[in-house]
Amino acid sequence: MTTTFEALGLDTRILQALAEEGYSSPTPIQAQSIPSVMEGRDLLGIAQTGTGKTAAFSLPILHRLAQQTGRPPRYGCRVLVLSPTRELASQIADSVRAYGRHLGLSTTVVFGGVGFGGQKSALARGVDILVATPGRLQDLIDQGAARLDHVTTLVLDEADQMLDKGFLPAIRRLLKAIPQQRQTLFFSATMPAEINKLAAEMLTDPVRVAVAPVATTAEKVAQRVIHLPAGGKRQALAELLRMEGIGRTLVFSRTKHGADRIVKQLDQDGIAANAIHGNKAQNARERALAAFRDGSAPVLVATDIAARGIDVDGVTHVIQFDLPEVPETYVHRIGRTARAGATGEAIALCSHEDRDKLRAIERLIRQQIPAETRSGAATPEPARAPAPRQPQQQKPPRGAHKPQRQPQHRPGGHATPAEPKRQAEPPRPQGGDSARRRPAAGQQDAPRRDRSWREGDFRDGSPAPAFLRRGR
Ligand code: AMP
Repeated sequence: MTTTFEALGLDTRILQALAEEGYSSPTPIQAQSIPSVMEGRDLLGIAQTGTGKTAAFSLPILHRLAQQTGRPPRYGCRVLVLSPTRELASQIADSVRAYGRHLGLSTTVVFGGVGFGGQKSALARGVDILVATPGRLQDLIDQGAARLDHVTTLVLDEADQMLDKGFLPAIRRLLKAIPQQRQTLFFSATMPAEINKLAAEMLTDPVRVAVAPVATTAEKVAQRVIHLPAGGKRQALAELLRMEGIGRTLVFSRTKHGADRIVKQLDQDGIAANAIHGNKAQNARERALAAFRDGSAPVLVATDIAARGIDVDGVTHVIQFDLPEVPETYVHRIGRTARAGATGEAIALCSHEDRDKLRAIERLIRQQIPAETRSGAATPEPARAPAPRQPQQQKPPRGAHKPQRQPQHRPGGHATPAEPKRQAEPPRPQGGDSARRRPAAGQQDAPRRDRSWREGDFRDGSPAPAFLRRGR
């Protein structure tokens, strides 16, 4: 489906913001969803992050709000977006603010783990668009600091993650506070039975849109698996991270404890990394994400739950330190490096104990992942990666039309105020010596350029692949 944002009839102020964002054409889910949502229809979207679903719901919502007059009530909002994680909530709010920057609408985000004060005072004035995690929103309602009786549009994002995180009862409770007469947009990557049921309860005659990036994601990512003894993983990881061509890298660990241990070991090996998982305080998570984005610590070790909703473009590598228990998780993980049409490389470290998990993954993706074997921790030769490929389409961090800044390297390990870069130069991890790995040149300084979605990246309108539709 080829169309333009102009042809979709969006408000010119939104078109201006999209041009500033460097979006040249709608993604398949945007092209399919925006017209119906602009008409006020309910929507059931089967799509993962990475497909452009945030803009698919935000743009028509902003368009409709821009046409309406009236103010949100005190403590209330006109549009409510529910998100399963704080990271995703912040990213949705950032996107909404960016797309709506010329409209003069107000957007607030509320989530747990931080103080109530700022959130309460923002809500007291009333907001046009409220993005919230369910638990914190319920707390605010219970304290009389939020009301939902003026919501005209409700978005439920990542419904299957809401189920995984045990939020379904909280959502059903919140629904009671929202008027029945409303527009509802419901997004989920998978449709297990309980999510199907929730969708049926919440939606009225919805338009159904399914984009299935998973199979294509697997095609866009160069995958390989390294067979090695469990005790050799630490050294293999450090060697991989030191290789030329490795840029922003997400390392997946099955457990929070494991993630902390990996960071500690990398630190001992002279590689700057941060961990992100549910036990980390909100400000530590934000710092880790910021360091990942700006390249000062371009290795982020994450658990699966924490990694959801991390919207960072230009992840060149995904390394799976442990293979996941659930094979679908493998596909979600590797998809982190193929966002917004980019390509990347995924490497899985597979010890003897992981073999069954690998077999299940290969059955699921119906591919045999190219494999190599390392004999042990003492192996002198690191496995060389194929020549690194530049992500095809990279989005510079928001606001990146300003010159990118790069932390300077001091022996003490602290970044000094940064200098604008003169030429594309890889960021250096903070602290440490020259043995630290160097990400690929140019990864951080990608010029803003128009990005268009290639035809055929997604199977437009096709149903999700069988494994995506299967319940968990
Ligand atoms: P999402 O699936 O909403 O998390 O979006 C994935 C990434 O795609 C985000 O970094 C968006 O900024 C980017 N994106 C969304 N829509 C477009 C578009 N039409 N053109 C280029 N990039 C886009």
